[in-house]
Amino acid sequence: MRILLLGGIGEAVQLARGLTPDHAVIYSLAGKGRRPELPDPVRIGGFGGSAGLAAFLREQAIERLIDATHPYAAQMSRNAAQAACLTGVPLWAYRRPPWRPESGDDWRFAADWPGLIAAVQAFQRPFFTIGLEPLRQVKAIPPTQYWLVRCLETKVPSSPQLTVLGATGPFALEAELALLREWRIDALVAKNSGGDAVAAKLAAARQLQIPVILLERPALPAADREFTTVDAMLAAFRESI
Ligand code: NAP
Repeated sequence: MRILLLGGIGEAVQLARGLTPDHAVIYSLAGKGRRPELPDPVRIGGFGGSAGLAAFLREQAIERLIDATHPYAAQMSRNAAQAACLTGVPLWAYRRPPWRPESGDDWRFAADWPGLIAAVQAFQRPFFTIGLEPLRQVKAIPPTQYWLVRCLETKVPSSPQLTVLGATGPFALEAELALLREWRIDALVAKNSGGDAVAAKLAAARQLQIPVILLERPALPAADREFTTVDAMLAAFRESI
């Protein structure tokens, strides 16, 4: 089967590896992070919205579209659903389960950036792990706060109230504990990404009794079939051969 796999997370790479012996897989990346070690064809860069994606599906005679993007990559998931509708190509989606609070966790939830900022007001040294948005908001840092931001960006705004750590996961628990202690972090700000690669920060916050402010997940469109594990999707492909 000719498959277009929209990736960008570890499970998408596992899916590509699991499908490759039996299927012709094009692995697609936005191009913001590092390229995984996968055999070609790996396609890098956007398609030009849902219409561009639909055109690509037709040109390449794709028979199955897989959305295995990050749970917060909502635009791409919407484009995938629309392109599937325009072309009639079946859409299968990997939807990574969210993290759930454990005993002893102090988790607070915010729907958007203003909600996050309101929730962070009570703290002095928040640690942001939600991507680039904090870098766009540097001018809004209150005089009482110092921000530590971990993200992929290399162009970092200068501010005496901000430090940016350029890093990508996975991160180990010991390192996360050391980081929270070293920077005297009093609140962790995160997306509810789910998965293992960046979950250690939550365990570290729990251990140090640091509150966690979570940006709620965006709503995602329905797919023809949805899976919450890589194995389940691979098994469904085997059954459909
Ligand atoms: P997004 O806001 O949903 O997508 C923005 C645009 O980037 C899309 O409209 C599309 O451009 C392009 N794009 C996104 N994913 C693509 C893919 N797999 N292949 C080709 N083009 C893609 O996405 P995002 O939040 O910026 O995330 C970008 C990528 O990073 C995704 O692949 C996602 O899986 C990965 N990622 C995201 C996060 C996160 O927190 N958002 C975390 C880890 C990894 P066109 O409209 O031009 O097609």
